[in-house]
Amino acid sequence: KEEGRFHPTELGLLITDLLTESFPQVLDVAFTAHMEEQLDEVAEGKVEWVNLLTTFYNGGFKDSLERAKTNMRDVKREEVPTEHKCETCSELMVIKWGRNGSFLACKGYPKCRNTRDYKRRSDDSIEILPEPTTDEKCPTCAGKMVGKRGRFGQFLACERYPECKGTRPMSIGVSCPNACGGYIAERRSKRGRIFYGCANYPSCTFAAWDRPVPGPCPQCQSSYLVRKYSKRDGVNIKCPVKTCDYHRDPELNDEDAAAVSAAAE
Ligand SMILES: [Zn+2]
Ligand SMILES: [Zn+2]
Ligand SMILES: [Zn+2]
Ligand SMILES: [Zn+2]
Repeated sequence: KEEGRFHPTELGLLITDLLTESFPQVLDVAFTAHMEEQLDEVAEGKVEWVNLLTTFYNGGFKDSLERAKTNMRDVKREEVPTEHKCETCSELMVIKWGRNGSFLACKGYPKCRNTRDYKRRSDDSIEILPEPTTDEKCPTCAGKMVGKRGRFGQFLACERYPECKGTRPMSIGVSCPNACGGYIAERRSKRGRIFYGCANYPSCTFAAWDRPVPGPCPQCQSSYLVRKYSKRDGVNIKCPVKTCDYHRDPELNDEDAAAVSAAAE
């Protein structure tokens, strides 16, 4: 909600388009009004509702449903054109959907991999958001890195892109338990499973399936703890050392709060 009026999301607008395309009859205003009239008659006992719905279903809705099954596009693969030019190659930018919502991507992808975060102004126009700057150094040219968003979430890219194509994964706010000076980032295995690894890989090989949380463990020497989820206990903060049984409930600190709001999206 923005400035007191309902603001349809990108996805909402696109879904409405798809529905109108696939179910013209249902969304046709005249038809809807007629349907409402008939529902009133049902309420007044003039029409049998089973008959009404059967008529509705057989009167074209069934065919629309069948057609939609085969024709309806995969919404998340859609691209919505915009008038914004890519600042690295001057192609136009399009809106795409990733794991964490929509973002702008260059139409020239995969030749140009430029992406930007954006927001809708109240008049529906698109505002490109400034890229968050970081203290991280580019692994290729040691230049500055800026925060970017792509299909697999956030990552850092060299400020000098496209001349330099250096990228690094985004920190989850935990430094590497191996004390290599690096930080932990969310990564994806070749099979698509999320794991947590050191950004200094391959020189540091720390990796864990469970999300590391800053430690130390109050019971043993472990410098970090992990978030574990089980059906029985829900989310628990545990010590990763097998011989140590330390565990506690999660506190709603920033990192947990972020995870909660991400899950609620
Ligand atoms: Zn571009
Ligand atoms: Zn660089
Ligand atoms: Zn490390
Ligand atoms: Zn421990």
